[in-house]
Amino acid sequence: MSKVISVEMERLLATGSTLRAMFEEGKKMRKEFGDENVYDFSLGNPSVPAPTEFNDALKEVIDTTDSMMLHGYMSNAGYEISREAIANDLNERFGTSFRMENVTMTVGAANALVVSMKILINPGDEVIVFAPFFLEYRNYISDFGGVTVVVPPNPPTFMPDMEQFAAAITEKTRAVIIDNPNNPTGVVYDEATICAMANVMEEAEQKYGHPIFLLSDEPYREIVYDQVEVPFLTKYYKNTLVCYSYSKSMSLPGERIGYLLIPDEAEESERIIAASSIGVRVLGCVNAPSLQQLAIIKVLDKRTDIGEYEKNRKALMDAMDAAGFEYVKPQGTFYMFVKTPVEDDTEFVTKAKEDFHILCSSGAAFDCPGYVRFAYCVDYDMIRRATPHIKELGHAYGLN
Ligand code: PLP
Repeated sequence: MSKVISVEMERLLATGSTLRAMFEEGKKMRKEFGDENVYDFSLGNPSVPAPTEFNDALKEVIDTTDSMMLHGYMSNAGYEISREAIANDLNERFGTSFRMENVTMTVGAANALVVSMKILINPGDEVIVFAPFFLEYRNYISDFGGVTVVVPPNPPTFMPDMEQFAAAITEKTRAVIIDNPNNPTGVVYDEATICAMANVMEEAEQKYGHPIFLLSDEPYREIVYDQVEVPFLTKYYKNTLVCYSYSKSMSLPGERIGYLLIPDEAEESERIIAASSIGVRVLGCVNAPSLQQLAIIKVLDKRTDIGEYEKNRKALMDAMDAAGFEYVKPQGTFYMFVKTPVEDDTEFVTKAKEDFHILCSSGAAFDCPGYVRFAYCVDYDMIRRATPHIKELGHAYGLN
């Protein structure tokens, strides 16, 4: 046992991030085989630029804001003008009536999630997630001594199965995390699914006599296709906390800006609101980045060009169809979840990489073996170049 590294960090060092490892592998392969000959679908880093209006907003904020406001500390919950602008924007879009107090600015959705955990979780408390899920959830939960309880995958729709969901809830359940639209499947939980989930949770709250919080992780809310509606969860379930981020909708993942939304209807909402500021502070963030808070509110009606992702989605679906792969048609995000023709998805990932220079992520990395994730936030031409190789990969498994 190390005399330096904590037991928990030893575990993290040993497991690493398979997604990051694949990304590093891609970099190495591009050096060896040339950029044109590697087809990297491994990482969810937005490929479409941030709206130009955002860059203009940054410049304007820098040019017109006094130094104390631009660079100084502020309340841990963030600038009031930012929180108010976001509350108003949500009210206009979703017919809600949030006030500034309901919004705490965070360092992306990741920070909103860990702040939520810090507020809600005592060691041994359980948090439910639905496989396949963004694996960082496990770390965010275990950071606070929580226990991740996984509801098994429900292919081919990947909509949560209500019986299995109800069976996963126990006396110790404190929270349930969903991300809608979903990484890695790209499916969107529709209104009927959300209502059914809310029913299950309300019944469990009655049964166990304490609130169970629904954490709605929403970095992909606006990245949807075919006019699909993403239900706004605070309307369906009172104990909802929304963890939002501009990382994907505005292509700003490195800027680390998002918020935690705490509705008044949530049990002990005032105390959760107070606790959220403390959470941002004691988790070492102190506050969300000041420049980003001031710039983002100038462009709340802007989005990255989702049409680009839609074009990529079509090209990748065409490639998968021609190759004979089965996949879940993505309704949102920039991910496609593809069924592997063999049970062992890690073997498939290795073959795709070594024989065809196609990089994708193993479903096991999302607690869902038997599938792989293709991230299509990539250059469109790369998808076109990859298309014949995806077909050859399918051929190698007798699919075409
Ligand atoms: N949740 C999901 C499902 C994600 O895919 C990601 C990032 O990829 C995050 C949260 C973290 O987002 P952020 O950059 O806002 O912290």
